Amino acid sequence: MTRRAFFRFYAELNDFLQPSQRFQDAERALHGTPAVKDIIEAIGVPHTEVDLLLVNGESQGFDYRLQDGDRVSVYPAFEALDIGAATRVRPVPLREPRFLLDVHLGRLARLLRLLGFDAAYAPGAEDDRLAVSAASERRILLTRDRQLLKRRLVTHAYCLRSQAPLEQALEVLQRFDLTSRAAPLTRCLRCNGRLQAIGLEEACDRLPPGVRTRVTRLAECLDCRRLYWDGTHYPRLQRMADDLLAQGVAGPAADAPDRHRTRTPGS
Ligand SMILES: [Zn+2]
Repeated sequence: MTRRAFFRFYAELNDFLQPSQRFQDAERALHGTPAVKDIIEAIGVPHTEVDLLLVNGESQGFDYRLQDGDRVSVYPAFEALDIGAATRVRPVPLREPRFLLDVHLGRLARLLRLLGFDAAYAPGAEDDRLAVSAASERRILLTRDRQLLKRRLVTHAYCLRSQAPLEQALEVLQRFDLTSRAAPLTRCLRCNGRLQAIGLEEACDRLPPGVRTRVTRLAECLDCRRLYWDGTHYPRLQRMADDLLAQGVAGPAADAPDRHRTRTPGS
């Protein structure tokens, strides 16, 4: 007789299921005693999206071995996940919002840096390298690639739903409850280095001649030494940051609760 386990996915985890399978009990045949993580991912839900697993009503970890007749309830992060708080299936919570972005997310990296978040991005980095770097540098991996999220090394990650950088930035703000932690214009958009205010006289010879007389506020990247000044850089960037944060607080998800559910995330 075939051995079976029964799965029910809650809330936005249904984004990852075929439309016909959403919000319904799913039955899976068991071969051997597979880890619950493997079956969840075979169904299409990245383990990094899961915050709580109940098997027959009891909380279990990803390595739980499924038995015949098990009933598995799979829950996403409850509301916005505060990364300062312990979550249920994570070995250790990450205390600082530090991100690593996959190779397709250069524009999102710049937006997160604009808001002051540590957003590492290496164009051309391969999946193996990304998974290792995320683990060793304790960074939250951001990607739209579900195969990448299946790797065991990847414990802290978020699968972006949108393909548009501005919407992606809002997703990240809300998913990790970051709006109150933003510090716009404190990080270099080009290299992710920290910015430090410097005096005009220190960098006068590196400013374009037309700018020298008008600058009142000047900062330099501690890593690549790029200069940022008011007049051209600050007002435009500050406005972008303000707009993003205002939307992050207002919450487009709250305005349109079904926004994510009408889409099937690509892989
Ligand atoms: Zn820099």
